[in-house]
Amino acid sequence: VRARVMQVEHDPDVTYQNIGGIDEQVEEVRETVEMPLTNPDRFDAVGIDPPSGVLLYGPPGTGKTMLAKAVANQTDATFIKMAGSELVHKFIGEGAKLVRDLFELSRQHEPAVIFIDEIDAIASKRTDSKTSGDAEVQRTMMQLLSEMDGFDDRGQISIIAATNRFDMLDRAILRPGRFDRLIEVPKPEQEGREAIFQIHTRSMNVDDDVDFEQLATDTGSASGADIKAICTEAGMFAIRDDRDTVRREDFDNAWEKINDEESENNEISR
Ligand code: ATP
Repeated sequence: VRARVMQVEHDPDVTYQNIGGIDEQVEEVRETVEMPLTNPDRFDAVGIDPPSGVLLYGPPGTGKTMLAKAVANQTDATFIKMAGSELVHKFIGEGAKLVRDLFELSRQHEPAVIFIDEIDAIASKRTDSKTSGDAEVQRTMMQLLSEMDGFDDRGQISIIAATNRFDMLDRAILRPGRFDRLIEVPKPEQEGREAIFQIHTRSMNVDDDVDFEQLATDTGSASGADIKAICTEAGMFAIRDDRDTVRREDFDNAWEKINDEESENNEISR
């Protein structure tokens, strides 16, 4: 069970150079998560405690997971990921135990970065519904809080959580000593989109007529994950046309396709 719910990467391959359009967030993560791992003396010298846990919040596909992996990469830490939704939906009755296992595992792999994705699944505001799952979810959250509270001498372990639904969170997890540093990770702006296009086409054979500035303007609503998908899809168009070079029209067609798919998905979920 543990192996399926926790993903352990000893050497995640994401670096800060792979992340575009969220430079401020990268800086903040370096200061709050990386520095306590690499330079704990700085905090001791000044006499402050580093943040206990950092919460990244913002829309899907903006680079939250990448940020956590990049810190692990930079600090040679093991990256241990657990998805809140899996904990709750797939392993009913085992949530609290899995949270215990997660912290145990991270102690065995110090230095480690624990990444809890979709934390809202285990830490949303108490609802009044009487579904049987709720008590179990509560227990899972209590276990997480108690692990964090008991983590005074936590050594070389950092905890990062992520959510797309900040409004849903139980405020108990945001108290001092828990997730006491909040970092918003928004969708990229124009310049950010351009930077992300540059990143994802680094190893692509792109024609000179491709204008990333224009593309960034055209793809106003795209997230980082959308841009990655556009680049891959543009490459597919070139392959289908039996070309080695990816042209401007391929990117335009790719955006059209991905944009359509997204609107369809939105229709379905509505
Ligand atoms: P979710 O909330 O859906 O888990 P997330 O914010 O954790 O999303 P990531 O998993 O980090 O998003 O991003 C998914 C993929 O999208 C990345 O592997 C990367 O290819 C691309 N991507 C997302 N954001 C960026 C970015 N800021 N710069 C470069 N690539 C990005």
